[in-house]
Amino acid sequence: MGKYIINRAAIRHNAAAVQRAAGVPVIAVVKANGYGMGLEWMAATLHECGIRAFAITELSDIAPLQDAVGTDCDILMLRSTALAVEAAAIVGAGCIASVGSAAALGALSDAARAAGTVARAHIKVDVGLGRYGFSPDDLAGLEACFAADDVAIEGIYAHFPGASNLGDLEASRTQLARFVACCEALGARGHKVGTRHMANSPALFNLPEARLDAVRAGSAFLGRVITAADTGLERVGILEAPVIDVKDFPADTPMGYGGAFRTKRATRAAIVPVGTQDGFGVQVKPLSDFHQVLAAGKRWMQKSSETVTIEGRPYPVLGVVDLSLSMVDVTDGEVAPGAVARIDINPLFLSARTPREYC
Ligand SMILES: *Cc1c(COP(=O)(O)O)cnc(C)c1O
Repeated sequence: MGKYIINRAAIRHNAAAVQRAAGVPVIAVVKANGYGMGLEWMAATLHECGIRAFAITELSDIAPLQDAVGTDCDILMLRSTALAVEAAAIVGAGCIASVGSAAALGALSDAARAAGTVARAHIKVDVGLGRYGFSPDDLAGLEACFAADDVAIEGIYAHFPGASNLGDLEASRTQLARFVACCEALGARGHKVGTRHMANSPALFNLPEARLDAVRAGSAFLGRVITAADTGLERVGILEAPVIDVKDFPADTPMGYGGAFRTKRATRAAIVPVGTQDGFGVQVKPLSDFHQVLAAGKRWMQKSSETVTIEGRPYPVLGVVDLSLSMVDVTDGEVAPGAVARIDINPLFLSARTPREYC
């Protein structure tokens, strides 16, 4: 098991860059344990950077998030839920609910009435992701949200299914246009939609016109956005472990479970105690541009799934990554036990057990 190094200064730098690029308030999405960085740490760090609105998907994240950022912040619950217990918890915590269906509106309205309060809510519109949210064509359903006495609509949002798909940003533009038209239709009927937000991190950089009244960003804080734009973001997060031994194998040695991989030549392997239990080798790599296809082709030719950097130099993993170990081909280098191996893995895939080191 390695340790995951998280650079606080890089997060700060990225938070400033995101806020500058947005030019409108930023809602920091800290779902999935703050994208693997640690929910409380991530939220507190972004709060120090001036972020005052956060979004999560899990009810169990509300209390730790409130502890981390205090009560002066808005917390948007991205989950639209028709469950009475969940609606009651969201209202009870003073979060902003997402309303994406008539049933969710009913549950929220009931919960607010029972609590003797008015629930804060943003309407969720589905323009192509195919998850929760009203269809923009469902004007009757959308208008009902404004008619509920116990619910105060403060905003409206939609989510892009493919704003990182650089080959087809036209689809995202069409979705944005549908969302904006939906907001206008509601406005024309006399409803105040409040804060309109649609851009996630890739849209912030790939489709700047999507910024509207607020931006919901998550991956941008980690500097991990698929974009051709010059974002100025720094990549955050690197898994580190020492080489624990170095071993020589003759040519044609089977390696790993099932013997699916065989050394093609006399091979020197560095043993690095990091594997799929850490989240290494589990991420499906996107193939959205030519370079990624090329890199995938190269990995396939080498029958190597991954790359490990040892003392600044990249080396291929021999065969597939094991549960707790990686065998790294260092035949062409000078690597001794104790050398530090570094692996770029997305913290979203990092095991909760892998220790985080904040520096
Ligand atoms: C995860 C999520 C985001 C943030 O997406 P990034 O691409 O990481 O910026 C924004 N909005 C919703 C609804 C999400 O689920």
